[in-house]
Amino acid sequence: MGAVKVVLTDFERTLVRLFEDNEVEREFSKEVRALCAKRGVPKRVLKAAGTSPYSLWTRAHRWTTKHEDPLAAERMYHAVTRIAIKYEMCAAPSIKLFEDVKPVLEQWKAAGITVMIVSNNDTMAVQRVLRENDAALLVDQVIGRDFDHELLGNLKPRPLLLEKALELSGCKPGTALLVGDSVDDMRAGKAAEIGFRVGLLQHSTVTKWQLRRAGAKLVLNRFGDLQDHPDLRRRLFGTDVSGVR
Ligand SMILES: [Mg+2]
Repeated sequence: MGAVKVVLTDFERTLVRLFEDNEVEREFSKEVRALCAKRGVPKRVLKAAGTSPYSLWTRAHRWTTKHEDPLAAERMYHAVTRIAIKYEMCAAPSIKLFEDVKPVLEQWKAAGITVMIVSNNDTMAVQRVLRENDAALLVDQVIGRDFDHELLGNLKPRPLLLEKALELSGCKPGTALLVGDSVDDMRAGKAAEIGFRVGLLQHSTVTKWQLRRAGAKLVLNRFGDLQDHPDLRRRLFGTDVSGVR
């Protein structure tokens, strides 16, 4: 892979923690769990999903798609989406970007590199967080979750959101750099044939080995490390660490 023309970055646990307040996340989980149970998702499926509202959602969606008619699956998807938007929008105004994120985004902006956030979170909630952090101008586009029928079952780890971002950027997957913290990010990146995939460990819930196995070509600790890695600098700016072209 050669020069990077576009950076596609994940949001939650890569740039921010949306639910630093565990109480809010617990409430969110409780509501999703109650809705899924009401719609007939068995207890064992919900139990296996753990405590994250998003993994509950994914497991429940998978089960509903397999055992119920498509309309029931779609209705549940939209019902959970409404719950998720409520909690994400409620969290958004007080969320701070990780402290090492803005300097990197500013450097990319100055170098004319297109930056897109590709997230399973609600698009408007992501935009709100950027505005609150005076970072809206540092990101060219947010490709997130919305009520679009096409997104049903097609969020990451599926490649659709990344493919949409690439299409909008007009860049080929081989010229893109993907940054994310999860196995789903890496799997989606691999499926979308993104040329260079970087996993970040600091706020991740998985190990370096799991990120590697899911398709990360490079695993770094934190977002700020993207600035210092010599190979990435060459691909992004055409310079080595000393700044010599
Ligand atoms: Mg993430």
